[in-house]
Amino acid sequence: MRAFCEAHGVDAWLREGGMLRVSATPGQDASVERDVEVARALGVPEEAVQLSDEELAQRIRSSRFRKGVFHRDCATVQPARLVRGLRRVAAEHIRLYEHSRVKMIEDGRVETGRGSVRAKDVVVAVNAAAAGWKPLQRQLTVFGSYVVLTEPVPELLERINWTGGEAVIDGRMFLHYFRTTNDGRVLMGSGSGPIGFAGRIDERFTRDRPTVERAEQGLRYLLPELADARITHAWGGPIDVSSDHLPFFGTVPGKRIHYGAGYSGHGVGPSWLGGQILARLVLGVDDELTRLPFVTRRVPKLPPEPIKRLGGGLVRASILACEEAEEAGRRPSLAARAGAALPRVLGLRIGTR
Ligand SMILES: Cc1cc2nc3c(=O)[nH]c(=O)nc-3n(C[C@H](O)[C@H](O)[C@H](O)COP(=O)(O)OP(=O)(O)OC[C@H]3O[C@@H](n4cnc5c(N)ncnc54)[C@H](O)[C@@H]3O)c2cc1C
Repeated sequence: MRAFCEAHGVDAWLREGGMLRVSATPGQDASVERDVEVARALGVPEEAVQLSDEELAQRIRSSRFRKGVFHRDCATVQPARLVRGLRRVAAEHIRLYEHSRVKMIEDGRVETGRGSVRAKDVVVAVNAAAAGWKPLQRQLTVFGSYVVLTEPVPELLERINWTGGEAVIDGRMFLHYFRTTNDGRVLMGSGSGPIGFAGRIDERFTRDRPTVERAEQGLRYLLPELADARITHAWGGPIDVSSDHLPFFGTVPGKRIHYGAGYSGHGVGPSWLGGQILARLVLGVDDELTRLPFVTRRVPKLPPEPIKRLGGGLVRASILACEEAEEAGRRPSLAARAGAALPRVLGLRIGTR
């Protein structure tokens, strides 16, 4: 991404400040330890370094943080600036047709409301909208993710030492993700938005007040020094969650229709790799990228609707209840614990804490 921005003069506010995962409750400590263990098992311990209390406070000071692990190889961007840069550079090579919603896809042809396009190969890379496309509907579900943005608070950031541009996530399953911006604001996100039904993308993914409130509560809870920072913006969108939380790429059997989906809310960096993979699928290239498990693994199937929605809704409510109780220092109810444990008991790889 750095090479792309440099080569094309795109100022996407790329900041290579690394990423911290912090735990905010005893129940979240395991997520920090897991990062360290996985990096060690892969032979790259330097990629996930556990910090002492002092080291953590030097990067970001909060009375809520218990443990922290630092991932050096991470960066933040201003995504709208990046996407405008991508659009400009793409348009130098191809003709873009915006506002032309595809309504039907078949081998060699796509149909929009205003006309159709013929092509030897079709690439379906439509993010959460792919959950409503038959070939992928059993492998994807849609969740809402929402963020709030504060007014510029550079002096508060100085006070809590958060001046290195680190991205931060906590140890919740419906995680809080937060970062600073070049103009001294704090963005706090919550991945706890509504769950979709049958691939429908409606306004619950852009206008869900309770999830905006949860993101704001996350800000006030995790960063008490920012208790009075004013929120100036809030927004949300749908994310394409795959059945094992990893992206996947492939070709519809017997057709020249290729797809990439399932970034599960973490697609900004990985979609660069996804683009390389999709280009190879179109060109029929067989190399180390098309042999990655992102392409070759068997992606588990989710239950059909309405079971997916009902089961997903029950598990979501249970996990949220557990995470909120733990932050409040209470023991979650037996019903919440049972609901939250359901995916693991059923051997699913989604919705597990
Ligand atoms: C609030 C929020 C916060 C997020 N935070 C992060 C983060 O911190 N880090 C991270 O890595 N990721 C984050 N994500 C996820 C990230 O935005 C996505 O994973 C990433 O953009 C996926 O890239 P993509 O190319 O697959 O899809 P997109 O960039 O969404 O592109 C898909 C395109 O398909 C188009 N499309 C959809 N349906 C049709 C149709 N029927 N016909 C024609 N075109 C169609 C859409 O208009 C869109 O332009 C966040 C998402 C949200 C909503």
